[in-house]
Amino acid sequence: MVLPEHSNPGAPVFSHFNLAGKTAIVTGGTRGIGLEAARGLAEAGAKVAITYTSTDPAEADETAAAISKSGNGVLVKAYRCDVKSRIDVEALVEKATKEVGDGKLDIVVANAGIAAHFSAIEYGEKEWREMLDVNFHGAFWTAQAAARVFERQLRAGGDGRGSIIFTASVSGILVNVPQQQSAYNASKAAVIHLAKSLSVEWVDFARVNCISPGFIATDMLAVHPEEWRKKWFSMIPASRLCQASELKGAYVFLASEASSYMTGANMVIDGGYTL
Ligand code: NAD
Repeated sequence: MVLPEHSNPGAPVFSHFNLAGKTAIVTGGTRGIGLEAARGLAEAGAKVAITYTSTDPAEADETAAAISKSGNGVLVKAYRCDVKSRIDVEALVEKATKEVGDGKLDIVVANAGIAAHFSAIEYGEKEWREMLDVNFHGAFWTAQAAARVFERQLRAGGDGRGSIIFTASVSGILVNVPQQQSAYNASKAAVIHLAKSLSVEWVDFARVNCISPGFIATDMLAVHPEEWRKKWFSMIPASRLCQASELKGAYVFLASEASSYMTGANMVIDGGYTL
């Protein structure tokens, strides 16, 4: 078992970030952090498949076209997929690999996620399972389906350079106060440890890493009461929220040869919040 070496470490550093000829899948790529991750990958040259869950495919197609424009016309396609369904995810990965990657896949970003707050003593079974189904099981189905393609490519003589990136969270490392996010926190902590486990098991054909954002200005933050948000934001040493576009460089870094020796890592991007 061996992690592949950098293919050309002596080349100028900008070329280490080049994703031309690569194919990526980003779940939840039509808005927020996933949208910016997809945009970053396309700007670095990758062809990208994004997923959506809404009933409006036309809107998702428009988003794909906008990302493609940012990426100088590189192929970007939108696919409907509910990550809770293993069958859906397997079909997405096979279809996107065929249609976007011409049979090849290099990068997957397991980003789709939900947030909610319920008192732990009253947490209902349906809500609890929903959180784990999307944030933890959905992330695993996504990584597993991609890993099967990566392994197949290795057996067929490929270079073993798959990259799996999970969007975890600082909530997988610490507990925000005030707090009613037990299921969310646990789901993200599980993802961080899952990434470490998979990085060892899949070292021959994929690097597996997490990005753990702090507070990012997306629709997700609106789920929480205003007074909680005020309290959390007052605790960020950076004294401001992060824009989702400030994360795209991190996704490109972990997707590319620039991070060739990085696996099993959790990259925290939080304006100093977890210090
Ligand atoms: P968002 O609500 O804007 O985006 C969430 C995305 O996940 C959407 O595209 C949505 O369609 C998709 N999604 C939800 N359920 C799905 C399902 N069952 N199947 C497929 N897709 C589904 O929020 P965001 O902030 O962009 O969140 C993206 C990721 O970042 C999430 O995993 C979230 O937990 C994580 N995160 C967000 C923050 C933050 O402050 N915004 C901080 C840390 C981590």
